[in-house]
Amino acid sequence: MYKVVIDGQPSEVTNGTTILAACEQLGIEIPTLCYLKHLTPEGSCRICVVEVKGARHLQIACATPCTDGMEITTMNERIYAFRHMIIELLLANHHADCFNCSANGSCKLYQYAMDYDVEQTRFEEVTKFRPKDESSEFFNYDPSKCILCRRCVRTCNQLQSNHTLSLKNRGVATWVGLPFDKLFKDSNCVSCGNCVSVCPTGALTTKASKKYRSWEVTKTRTTCPYCGVGCQMDLLVKNGKIVGVEPADGPANSNLLCVKGKFAYRFINHPDRLKTPLVRKNGVLTSTSWDEALDYVAEGIKRIKAESGPDAIAGFASARATNEDNYVFMKMMRAAIGTNNVDHCARL
Ligand code: SF4
Ligand code: SF4
Ligand code: SF4
Repeated sequence: MYKVVIDGQPSEVTNGTTILAACEQLGIEIPTLCYLKHLTPEGSCRICVVEVKGARHLQIACATPCTDGMEITTMNERIYAFRHMIIELLLANHHADCFNCSANGSCKLYQYAMDYDVEQTRFEEVTKFRPKDESSEFFNYDPSKCILCRRCVRTCNQLQSNHTLSLKNRGVATWVGLPFDKLFKDSNCVSCGNCVSVCPTGALTTKASKKYRSWEVTKTRTTCPYCGVGCQMDLLVKNGKIVGVEPADGPANSNLLCVKGKFAYRFINHPDRLKTPLVRKNGVLTSTSWDEALDYVAEGIKRIKAESGPDAIAGFASARATNEDNYVFMKMMRAAIGTNNVDHCARL
């Protein structure tokens, strides 16, 4: 264990703990843009700088490990001025039309500009913005809102392992692009949306996010119903309807989702959705109650078993059900009906 002092508070941290993690332990908030928990530290945005006693320059908190006896200051005039300048530099190469931006209300750049009293930048804009790419079914990309934090690139490469995104060019001409400058729809992108979920600005936004602001939605933590992995997610609900999904940091998914979990939620409010069981009466599928439907199935199973034996019946379970539900279903087939004809769809 190392002894450190942060803003006058003594603390103990394990070897390898970063200054950012040590501050988190004490409940001290440090602004971050490029940092993300499950990615290797990037240290490129520099907004998390802090002062370390004895060090000539300010140090980045996200990538600097604590050493024994370290004395850290997380806010003073020098740090404030440095962070202020970082935000100004970002805004110099940024099309800040917040009124038209889908990220309005959840944008970290906007939040920090407010926190550090940055109303305008004193630096000249030099970037020629690349055109928008709205070709994806599910999300839009606007390079004029990108702050080059590389969260999307690292998420696509390190976590999703898809290698669709990379930084192109150098200096002020740098931008996040796709192989051979393709559009998203023509690339190897699998539309998982994980790059969109981590973007701190309005550069990558879901198409649906124009329809709601962050303060209008409630978040409900749940488990994705699509397969047996058990990814955790937050449903964003506005006026009683699900308008979006954000990944949560569950043990099985660590803040990632696939295209189904992230984007395939519109069936819930779709008018074609079946909401009751259907039983065929006189050749016509008719809406009925669960009690009537279950009686109908139970009578059918009993009749077939009596006429032809239990092996005339087979049961097919679902990857959408939980392990426990599938176990109980298997038990019912073997113990109650008396057949080993039970199987399971491996994937939907
Ligand atoms: S990305 Fe943020 S700062 Fe930029 S226009 Fe959108 S809301 Fe405004
Ligand atoms: S949607 Fe997924 S695969 Fe496509 S670029 Fe983003 S992270 Fe990569
Ligand atoms: S698109 Fe978003 S996540 Fe990717 S580098 Fe730009 S600001 Fe960062």
